Amino acid sequence: MCTGRIDLAFIVKAFLEGADGVYIAGCKLNECNYTTHGNFYALNVSLLFKALMDYFGINKGRIRIEFLSSSEGLFFVETVSDFIRNVAELGPLGEAEQIAPDDLKIKLSYLLKLVPYLKIATRLKLQSKISDPSKWDQLFTKEEIIKLINEAPAYWIDPEKCVACTLCAQRCPVEAIDGGKNKIHIIIQDKCIKCGNCFEVCPSRFSAVKKLVGMSVPEPIKDEQRYVKKSDTG
Ligand code: SF4
Ligand code: SF4
Repeated sequence: MCTGRIDLAFIVKAFLEGADGVYIAGCKLNECNYTTHGNFYALNVSLLFKALMDYFGINKGRIRIEFLSSSEGLFFVETVSDFIRNVAELGPLGEAEQIAPDDLKIKLSYLLKLVPYLKIATRLKLQSKISDPSKWDQLFTKEEIIKLINEAPAYWIDPEKCVACTLCAQRCPVEAIDGGKNKIHIIIQDKCIKCGNCFEVCPSRFSAVKKLVGMSVPEPIKDEQRYVKKSDTG
């Protein structure tokens, strides 16, 4: 698979499904055959993930990215062997980090849920092309990651404003919005991946979807109260 296909979610899922380390090999930087230079994208994704690993207390040695040409088989073997040795020394994921398996699962599952939001919030940096390895560690600073995590929004539908037009439910990629004709819509927070689609599509004349940062999400209204009066639908 071309490294341009690497997604932050792939890496998180690999660890969530039991990998102790992830090695990514891509074509040499600046030698991509496509104008998109997907290997830079893969590099930036791996740098973002490393910064997130640091935040969540996971050893950054569990991920490695290398760039090589098809004639560098020996380099590939050497770097893979070195990586395997290092990961074996760290032991199973969570052991070196002293994170209990259940806590690790909670952290990684939370991270997986944040992926769409993180990709949107860091999209400009994910597109950067930094050839100088000495500058890679500066792409995502610790302060930036703390801010990103702390400012992860929640989305909530104001029941006083929703007219049940159903647009948001149609655009939600994970069916996290419960609604229906004449039924005030609510967001199922456990399912929401914070993509913001509902916020974007709710017509401005209703502005029923709210983006909440740094505050708790109000409880959804009771089912029997979820009807829309005809006068509200204009
Ligand atoms: S932000 Fe809105 S559209 Fe996106 S997953 Fe959450 S509820 Fe669905
Ligand atoms: S788009 Fe807005 S008004 Fe329409 S159902 Fe969703 S929250 Fe309600």
